[in-house]
Amino acid sequence: MASITMSPSIPCDNHLTQERHRAFREKLRTFLAEHADPIAEQHEAETRFPRELLQKMGREGYLGVPFGAQYGGAGLDPLSLAILIEETSRCWGSLGIILAAHIGLGSNPIAMWGNEEQKQKYLVPLARGERLGGYGLTEPQAGSDSGATLTSAVLDGDHWVLNGTKCWCTNATEAFSYVVSAVTDPDLGKSGISAFIVEKDFPGFSFGKKEDKLGLRASATGTLIFDSCRVPRENLLGERGQGFKYFMQTLDGGRITIGAMSLGLAQCALDEVAAVLVKECLTADLFEHELRLAPLAEMAVDVAAARSLVYEAAITRSLRPRWTLEGAVAKYLASEVGMRVSSKAVEMLGERGLMMNSRVSRAFRDAKLCTIGEGTNEIQKVVIARELLRTLEA
Ligand SMILES: Cc1cc2nc3c(=O)[nH]c(=O)nc-3n(C[C@H](O)[C@H](O)[C@H](O)COP(=O)(O)OP(=O)(O)OC[C@H]3O[C@@H](n4cnc5c(N)ncnc54)[C@H](O)[C@@H]3O)c2cc1C
Repeated sequence: MASITMSPSIPCDNHLTQERHRAFREKLRTFLAEHADPIAEQHEAETRFPRELLQKMGREGYLGVPFGAQYGGAGLDPLSLAILIEETSRCWGSLGIILAAHIGLGSNPIAMWGNEEQKQKYLVPLARGERLGGYGLTEPQAGSDSGATLTSAVLDGDHWVLNGTKCWCTNATEAFSYVVSAVTDPDLGKSGISAFIVEKDFPGFSFGKKEDKLGLRASATGTLIFDSCRVPRENLLGERGQGFKYFMQTLDGGRITIGAMSLGLAQCALDEVAAVLVKECLTADLFEHELRLAPLAEMAVDVAAARSLVYEAAITRSLRPRWTLEGAVAKYLASEVGMRVSSKAVEMLGERGLMMNSRVSRAFRDAKLCTIGEGTNEIQKVVIARELLRTLEA
């Protein structure tokens, strides 16, 4: 088994990262090696949510990485967030998706569009890691076509009354607050969708069963049910009717984190294979093993390409107001790499790779989510092609 503080990779980030990024990565690796790696496998086997670990990570500032210090965050840049998700996923995919959903989906929309009161009430405890956040956009009939939302919100005095169901929500039951979409003005199509902050204890809010997933088994995924759920009027997030726009922009950021997650899983698979080959090949005649060395090279090149695109997208996010193309490209390539590299790693390690408790089999099962979540890769192709044509139009 590879040590999680050691990682062979083709250097492709020298021109991208500054010393502070390297220092952030090293400190995080040490933390994960001490606190996350030793408990990961047991939690996966028992589908146990890592609550205590998240509290520790919260105290270290990892749950509020991109948010300003005035809101309890660490005030770091999008590249640091990508490194956070890459490294946690390299150690433990479930931890990666929990953080990606908490930061990118459950907290970021409040940082972006919340008013001061909402930021103080919700963002501060989320950024400090005292509470966990979730995000409800997907519905049974509204996955790829998220504009087909049926959940409704009707104003009744000082409250919005929500009715509907959100499915596949990461951190469901574990999160305290959820950013959800609902139709406030049915005649206006997508311009009639608004965003709300819903606390799990609001009357009329309940959860469906926890999903039993192929991978990411220690993370929680479930259904949010709104049955005449009463949400205080002031919990409308941003402007009425702007929800669809907010949710699409949120996904632009989420795609970079899913790319980073895929990258971490691919790196994990590469690390495991390299740790085995370094013992078995370098002690013998290299040419006897060339058939095993070639796939290692392919994997390393794949990982380097994914890293370049994920970091490029993260840097674009800090430089430009719009990064739709870069985010979709990074998510698409990195998640394909995650599948390709982890699958190859399972094959290369043979029966050792197939065992449920091997790191490569876990990476392989976890990587599949990344080609689906935050928009499937078929949808990424549509986004990429549209964005390319848009640049020609401009
Ligand atoms: C583990 C996990 C965690 C998740 N976490 C969250 C979360 O926290 N919050 C949340 O809101 N959602 C979450 N999701 C939901 C996720 O975003 C959706 O699964 C995803 O958007 C795809 O939607 P769908 O599953 O309904 O697939 P569908 O939209 O039903 O698509 C099914 C298939 O049809 C294809 N397809 C659909 N439309 C087109 C088209 N126009 N062109 C080409 N092909 C098309 C798709 O590519 C796909 O292969 C999560 C999903 C998973 C698996």
